[in-house]
This record gives sequence, structure tokens and C-alpha cells, in this order.
Amino acid sequence: MEEVELVIIGAGPTGLFATFCAGLRAIKSVTLESLSTYGGQMMELYPNKIIYDVQGIPKILSKDLAQKMYEQAQLFNNPIVFDSNVSDIIQNDDKTFDIEVANEPKYHTKTVLICAGVGNFTPNKLNVDGEDAYIGKGVFYTIKVPSDFKSKNVVIVGGGDSAFDYALQIEPFAKNIIIAQHNGILKAAENSVITAKSKPNIKVMLNTEIKKVYGDGKKVTGARMIDTLSKQETDLAIDGIIVAIGHKASPDTFKSIKLETINRYIKVDTSYKTGVDGIYAAGDIANIANEPKFALLAAGGAEAYIAINNIRKYLSPDSSLFGGHSTSLNL
Ligand SMILES: Cc1cc2nc3c(=O)[nH]c(=O)nc-3n(C[C@H](O)[C@H](O)[C@H](O)COP(=O)(O)OP(=O)(O)OC[C@H]3O[C@@H](n4cnc5c(N)ncnc54)[C@H](O)[C@@H]3O)c2cc1C
Repeated sequence: MEEVELVIIGAGPTGLFATFCAGLRAIKSVTLESLSTYGGQMMELYPNKIIYDVQGIPKILSKDLAQKMYEQAQLFNNPIVFDSNVSDIIQNDDKTFDIEVANEPKYHTKTVLICAGVGNFTPNKLNVDGEDAYIGKGVFYTIKVPSDFKSKNVVIVGGGDSAFDYALQIEPFAKNIIIAQHNGILKAAENSVITAKSKPNIKVMLNTEIKKVYGDGKKVTGARMIDTLSKQETDLAIDGIIVAIGHKASPDTFKSIKLETINRYIKVDTSYKTGVDGIYAAGDIANIANEPKFALLAAGGAEAYIAINNIRKYLSPDSSLFGGHSTSLNL
């Protein structure tokens, strides 16, 4: 087994910044990512979305920002290993951990930082007739290339940020977009809702669900919609459905270790430590209290920074908690 001081699980934005911060504090780390690329949700769910809300970067494509994060993470040459799904964390009697990758023990470490986000991206499904038969043939759970929806009539299911982000990404290309939301509550950012409502080809339909997906055997041709209040059903001719109703999260996938959870999050304290000494969690997977989580790139970065400095202190109790500024670096 390879010996390290820290295993970082996940090379999404939080894990990438944690990798950089580990280098900054001279911690010998390895970052393990189950996918074959970096960036987590940024690359998997919205590579072509423009990001506006990261400090100092007024406007950037998600995939370009992810690339810059990856570049920054490599500054200290701490390895980032892809296609490495962490299947278990096993605690030893001496409080160290063995990390299993694909069920094989691979790393022996003193600390672990879990930055596993929403897990391995299992999207929630509609679970309606016809859905499974047309996955990839008109039924999608994410979009990679917005122009694929050129001249299409599309229903986007959901009322959160993903639904509105997808609508705004395909809006320049699609003919008509309906955002169908089932219980009348829109949770997306106010600005996205205002912008979407101002577009002539986007219509928001509240209290509306898809009951059935139709097709001609090769592709989606329509959907049966139901008004959840009046129960009235309508058939719509459409070319595509984008399901944006969240992802299954799995904070307790590491079977040998029991981490306390709050709802779908791993519970951490203000130093981003879990209830187990040596195990920390940050980013979309972690929460301090039973309150809404700020699931944001910048927030994940700040949490990673705090976690890493506390990990430094845990590894060497005599070191200072705050590692200072990066002024003296010459990388
Ligand atoms: C549609 C959409 C739009 C968004 N827009 C914005 C925005 O404009 N601005 C903003 O600030 N935020 C935005 N967000 C939120 C932002 O993407 C998340 O807050 C951020 O991705 C969280 O980063 P993370 O690294 O914690 O988790 P993730 O991005 O989920 O990354 C976690 C990584 O861990 C890996 N992993 C999971 N389990 C394991 C395992 N067992 N072993 C190894 N690897 C594992 C995953 O494969 C993944 O790569 C958006 C989210 C969505 C869905």
C-alpha cells in the first residue's frame, strides 16, 4: 500500500482546490477521482454554462474554469489519480486508515478529506411510462452540447437551478422550451427565473408533471402532461425531455466507517471535521447544521481551505493553523 498523509476523495472543484491547499501546507496527498476527468459537476453536468459568481472571474465557461482549477491543483505536483473509485475507508487501531480503490486496499493514510460532492451522479428519474425506452433518444438527465437542441421543442422537468440553467443554455438554439414544475415552487436563483421568463421561447408551467413519454420507437415524439391541481391531462408534441430533478447522493457509501449525517450530508464541525478523528469532509457533501447548504464553487473552495489547514494542525499539532499567505511562493 502506498503511504500518504492525506487522501482527498473527489477531483471536483472542492477536491481540486483542496489538492492545491494541501500542497501549500506541504501535506503529502493523493487525490482519487472515480471518473476519468476532473471538474465533477462542472464537467459532467454543465460544461458549456457561463459562470459569473466566482471571485475575480467576471465571466467564464464552466469547462474552462474547471481546466484552470485542474492546472492550479497540479502546482505542487501532488498526484490526482483518475478512474479510482474509493469503495471503502477502513480505520485501523492506530487511528490511521486504509483506503480501498475498487475494493482493493491501495493507500495507507493518516487523514482523509471527502470531497465527493453529490456522489457518482445518479440522476433522479421521472419513473413514468416510456422514460426508460427513450433514454439518450430524447430523454436526457444532463446536457453537454446545447446546440444539439437546435430547432427542437423541449420540456425541462424541474424548478431548481439545474432546470433553469439548462433552459438558458439551450434557449439560443431551441424552438420552444417548457419548464414543467410539479408543486408550484420555483427554487432556482431569482435572476435565472427572471431571465428565463423574459425569453419569448421559454414558458414556465407550474403544477405540471409528465405522466407518460411517447415515441416512434427511435426517438421521443411527445409527452402526456398532467396538471397536478386540476388533474387535467394534455398530450404535447415534443422532441426532447430534460429531467432536472436532482441526483441521488450517497454520503454513507464507505461501508466500514459510520459517519454521522444530516439529511443527505456528512455532518461536520466548523473545522470541517466529521465525528471520526482524521476524517474531514467539504463541499457539496458536507454540512455543519441542518440548514440550507450553500452548494457553490466558491463556498466549496473556502471549505476545502479551512479543512486542509485543520488537517495540517491535526498531522502536526505544533504547526500553526493558519499557514500564511502565498506571497513567498515562486512556482
Ligand atoms: C446545473 C448546475 C449549475 C450550477 N451552477 C453553478 C454556478 O453557476 N456557480 C456556482 O458557484 N455553483 C454552481 N453549481 C454548484 C456547483 O457545481 C457545486 O457546488 C460544485 O460542483 C461542488 O463541488 P464538489 O467538488 O463539492 O462536488 P462535485 O462537483 O460533485 O465533485 C465531486 C467529485 O467526487 C467524485 N466522487 C464521488 N464519489 C467518489 C468516490 N467514492 N471515489 C472517487 N471519487 C468520487 C465525483 O465523481 C466528482 O467528480 C451548479 C450545479 C449544477 C448542478
